[in-house]
Amino acid sequence: MIKLNHITKTFQTPSLEVHACKDVTLDIGAGEIYGIIGFSGAGKSTLVRCINLLERPTSGQVSVDGIELTSLPEKELRAVRKKIGMIFQHFNLMRSRTVAQNIAYPLKGSGLSKEEINKKVNELLKLVDLEEKANVYPSQLSGGQKQRVAIARSLANDPKVLLCDEATSALDPQTTKSILRLLKHVNEQLGITIVLITHEMAVIKEICNRVAVMENGEVVEEGNILDVFSSPKQQVTRDFIDSTS
Ligand code: ADP
Ligand code: MG
Repeated sequence: MIKLNHITKTFQTPSLEVHACKDVTLDIGAGEIYGIIGFSGAGKSTLVRCINLLERPTSGQVSVDGIELTSLPEKELRAVRKKIGMIFQHFNLMRSRTVAQNIAYPLKGSGLSKEEINKKVNELLKLVDLEEKANVYPSQLSGGQKQRVAIARSLANDPKVLLCDEATSALDPQTTKSILRLLKHVNEQLGITIVLITHEMAVIKEICNRVAVMENGEVVEEGNILDVFSSPKQQVTRDFIDSTS
């Protein structure tokens, strides 16, 4: 579903070059929940932003569902991007719009009628178990509820892939568990491939099939979750296991 082929990303800052991603090659299968773990600054967010080309790689190719995004013109890229949902640590909801309006927002310009949009929003509200919150504003919601709204919004265009950048890092352990259950449900029931970035070991252990460990812009270890954590090859992987298990 997702192929990253020798991705590098270099940021030019006035004082230095930052090599945020260095020659990353990954192959993520349809229907997987794929974890990317690493300490702060490892390059996780940059890498995941390269998957939907929010960040354009300095070199290398990105393909999603058989389409090479890195060679598409901007206009076609916009259409393909709709098939890639994304959620964030701080939810990124629009505070002046209600829950229902936030969820409906990506459907603007979709050509759907008002009735069709309402129907879709109601289905999504049901999916994330927030039907009674349709007409409240984000400020009236808990963190977990805000993330549920963000998940519903990210699913509005029926994406094939959902990118989650530290989606549970602002939440307490109990709420984290409920969001992870929802993501698992989305993966299993809707068949959506999920890429989940985190610095929290517990999150990876809870729902991922495979994991990549990043350090200094590189994927230093990769594989089946049980293999990686039962016989870690890298010190950074051992540090993760020691720090949080
Ligand atoms: P992580 O998500 O693992 O914490 P990031 O991908 O955010 O890591 O950052 C990787 C490295 O790239 C860091 O050194 C960060 O400071 C740098 N970086 C990220 N975005 C930019 C940018 N827009 N300009 C310059 N440097 C950046
Ligand atoms: Mg990050």
